[in-house]
Amino acid sequence: MRIYKVGGAVRDRLLGKPVTDIDWVVVGATTEEMLAKGFRPVGADFPVFLHPKSGEEYALARTERKSGRGYGGFTFHASPEVTLEEDLIRRDLTINAMAEDDQQNLTDPYHGQRDLDARLLRHVSPAFAEDPLRVLRVARFAARYAELGFTVAPETLELMRELTESGELEALTAERSWKEISRALMEDQPQVFIQVLRDCDALKVLMPEVDALFGIPQPEAHHPEIDTGVHTLSVLEQAARHQQPLTVRWACLLHDLGKGLTPEEEWPRHIAHEHRGLKLIKAVNERFKAPKDCQELALLVGQYHTHGHRALELKPSTLLELLQSFDVYRRPQRFEEFIAACEMDARGRKGLEQRSYPQADYLRGAANAARSVAVQPLLEKGFKGPALGEAIKRERLKALKAYKGAASA
Ligand code: ATP
Ligand code: MG
Repeated sequence: MRIYKVGGAVRDRLLGKPVTDIDWVVVGATTEEMLAKGFRPVGADFPVFLHPKSGEEYALARTERKSGRGYGGFTFHASPEVTLEEDLIRRDLTINAMAEDDQQNLTDPYHGQRDLDARLLRHVSPAFAEDPLRVLRVARFAARYAELGFTVAPETLELMRELTESGELEALTAERSWKEISRALMEDQPQVFIQVLRDCDALKVLMPEVDALFGIPQPEAHHPEIDTGVHTLSVLEQAARHQQPLTVRWACLLHDLGKGLTPEEEWPRHIAHEHRGLKLIKAVNERFKAPKDCQELALLVGQYHTHGHRALELKPSTLLELLQSFDVYRRPQRFEEFIAACEMDARGRKGLEQRSYPQADYLRGAANAARSVAVQPLLEKGFKGPALGEAIKRERLKALKAYKGAASA
């Protein structure tokens, strides 16, 4: 049996990038031989094994053929006769279809090295079109390697467009899609992921609510970039630049969806877009079964981001309602993430990327003021049940009035 390093590990070594996980391909072996060497099988009908010590993935060289719709619709053929070249041709991109032996000799039948040098993401063969997930994967790699100057080869983009038009994207499960989306959002340039999906018309299928924002104007005074789609990409870019967590990035992507529903005669203003957007945010959340913390933050940011921007002008009672909505007393972290998303929204505007955002500290101070209200003295005064709740609220309101007074003094 011969063993080669494949995929990302080879690609990233050639790019001079740190290699985190290594995938291996095994040529000339049977399942029985692998088991005899102590490898543990990953799944029942998948010729992939885990190394007994390192835990890294070793896959038997295999060919694949599409036999139906969706991810289940593949038949694998793994046998000792399958060659390295036959295994490599089923892979998505040429830069992912190189193998390396233990002497670092490169096997590169599809010219991955050439495409690495040319900074091109190019499909290996027409079989690319057999798995719609590859549309998302290519967009994700485009986001990851954008800073190195990589772009999607025009013929690959065309194939991605054909795949999209064929309706195959709809066969993707929420789980597979979310895995790619969440990884892509955590890349250094997540806005490129969205842009590439848009370039091949996949955004319209996957997230029509986001796609709809392109071409919708906003008031130039607050939004020198004018276009709502462009703004959304900038907010995402800022979120990555400021190393925000996935929750914040997801909320940034969805915060303005309501602007897609503004009646045209109201443009470029978007009164009540915060509220209008909620059902759209909910739909996207559910479509991809986003984790609960992502879903929650996206909805809260959608509903309250304008409150965040207007923090310094809010009446104490409105501030209190905001803090209550976030349950800042028990969920301080979530409120921090809300503040971060608002700040990214404020900076994701043309020419305003470096602006200061005093609202952030102001909101933190308000949360602290409300939190500083002690419950014990109220209990000692005999408050209980709903009356206790009311008393706490009154005290918090008092604290916020004092806070606002001190801040504006
Ligand atoms: P990463 O750094 O994100 O792990 P990777 O290239 O190693 O990148 P993996 O998802 O770990 O990506 O997959 C390993 C290899 O398997 C890829 O390099 C590619 O050759 C192949 N591969 C994975 N998923 C697909 C797919 N859906 N279609 C075609 N080839 C794939
Ligand atoms: Mg990998």
